[in-house]
Amino acid sequence: MTTIKVAINGFGTIGKRVADAVDAQDDMEIVGVTKTGPSFGCDLAVKKGFPLYCTFDDQDRISAFAAGGYECKGGLSDLLEIADVVVDCSPGKMGADNLAKYKAAGVKHLFQGGEKHDLTGKSYTSSANHAENLGVEGVRVVSCNTTGLSRTLVPLFEHCGSLKVECTMIRRAADPGDSNKGPINAIKPVLKVPSHHGPDVMTVKPEIEINSLAVAVPTTIMHLHAIVVDLPDGHGLTTDSIVNMWKETPRVIVMKGNENRITTTAEVMEMARDIGRKWGDLHEIFVWEDGVSLQGNRLYYFQAIHQESDVIPENIDAIRAVMGTESDWKVSVAKTDAAISAYYNL
Ligand code: NAD
Repeated sequence: MTTIKVAINGFGTIGKRVADAVDAQDDMEIVGVTKTGPSFGCDLAVKKGFPLYCTFDDQDRISAFAAGGYECKGGLSDLLEIADVVVDCSPGKMGADNLAKYKAAGVKHLFQGGEKHDLTGKSYTSSANHAENLGVEGVRVVSCNTTGLSRTLVPLFEHCGSLKVECTMIRRAADPGDSNKGPINAIKPVLKVPSHHGPDVMTVKPEIEINSLAVAVPTTIMHLHAIVVDLPDGHGLTTDSIVNMWKETPRVIVMKGNENRITTTAEVMEMARDIGRKWGDLHEIFVWEDGVSLQGNRLYYFQAIHQESDVIPENIDAIRAVMGTESDWKVSVAKTDAAISAYYNL
């Protein structure tokens, strides 16, 4: 088996997690990660044995690493020369500049949800459209919110053949490691209506009709979605059968909130810390069973999203898609998740 050589451009919140998840797999390896300059984040790369490169090619920036006590192997161009695929984990909206570099180097590329669909013209979630992205040059792994919506809506769509969805994204104000975002004492509606989150699902499953509203609230740990779905006549589903469908869906956890005393996102994240993945991550979407209710053709439910980590295993499946090494999304998902569990001895 040839090992896929993976570069990570941007070793921040998402980049360091994708690097660990790649390191966990037996069919891929990290050939290097980039930092813009010396900082505490470089220590993690050193500790993990990931070769450290500079995000840029200019010599002054590369030399700054040595001055900071870190060995820097070179600039981004040097890293791209030895990579089969680069996972771009730069802050959003830097994609256009970086895309030009990846194309010039002839390297396959993944972007994250901070970039627009138009950048690559292709977007990805494991359950929605893995097969459509086999062997493509580049793809965008959609945002944490869109990934979460796709996880629960795609199996419903596959059963029903059509869905109309309205949802409200109740969004965390900042990641736990951010010190420059808010609000800290307000609820901030996103005044672009509808928000981009729901319609973004249509970049991976165009047949789902969906709109969304979004508000930012003063919490850092999770997003919460309040979702209303109109099912077509003759759907043949019940509340229980929908719950059972999600219980059998990969990367979805369904639990009774009241019975298990897990009624808020605080307890969900405490459970995630008990699971034992690094950083207390929860790759799964959490659905409260007692919050699911089908009334006639209208389905109501809530789900919670660990924004820093639900997209991480999707990046691994997307690497296999662009490299064309696994055509069956379910096989890739099972392989990805088993390897991550083994990596953390879960
Ligand atoms: P981050 O700020 O934590 O990390 C970004 C890293 O990229 C930093 O280390 C930064 O120094 C580095 N960087 C800066 N300029 C760069 C450049 N030109 N090229 C490459 N790297 C550069 O950001 P993040 O939260 O990891 O977000 C990365 C991407 O993932 C964004 O598109 C974001 O929208 C998306 N995303 C974030 C989350 C989340 O909750 N944090 C969830 C899903 C998707």
